[in-house]
Amino acid sequence: MEAKTPAKKTTAASGKSKTTAAKTPVKASAKTPAKKGAAKELKDLFEDSLKDIYWAEKALVKALPVMMKNATDKKLKSAIENHISETETQIERLKECFKALGEKAQAKKCDAMQGLLDEGKSIMEETEPGTVRDAGIIAAAQKIEHYEIATYGTLAAFAKVLGEEECLKHLLKTLKEEKKCDELLTKVADTNLNSKAK
Ligand code: FE
Ligand code: FE
Ligand code: FE
Repeated sequence: MEAKTPAKKTTAASGKSKTTAAKTPVKASAKTPAKKGAAKELKDLFEDSLKDIYWAEKALVKALPVMMKNATDKKLKSAIENHISETETQIERLKECFKALGEKAQAKKCDAMQGLLDEGKSIMEETEPGTVRDAGIIAAAQKIEHYEIATYGTLAAFAKVLGEEECLKHLLKTLKEEKKCDELLTKVADTNLNSKAK
């Protein structure tokens, strides 16, 4: 009997990138029907997206202290601590955006952030505390930052097209912070963590 784990059909070993997975049948009616009250104008989509990231930031600010508590590396802990206060400011900036639009600040569940936070939780459960868990926390945190960078980049582009200068100013400030946080996490990972985690 062979003990070696059999490779799945779609492993890299085959060289050719032939996909053996069953083809998903494409239905003729593949277009997604819009829900009632769906956005018609870019402005509506902009506002919906603001509500989404507002929810995401509020969820994140609750999750970050848990990540900080689970981290052991000093630099990682302080990077997360710093980002908690930045995130609080980012929430305030979003409130300013709603105000500038004459809307009340409203949160709408962001499924992506929920998924990223769930994944972060599992990474912590699946790693022993110490350098390996730290590496996992960095991975989870960077996925979150990348989601935020994508979101704020898009929101800033929308604000620009829509001529929402006040919003644009706030969104660009936050975008810059998210990028800086991501770079800092890369640095923490590069300088000590990943080599120790080996
Ligand atoms: Fe943020
Ligand atoms: Fe989202
Ligand atoms: Fe962030």
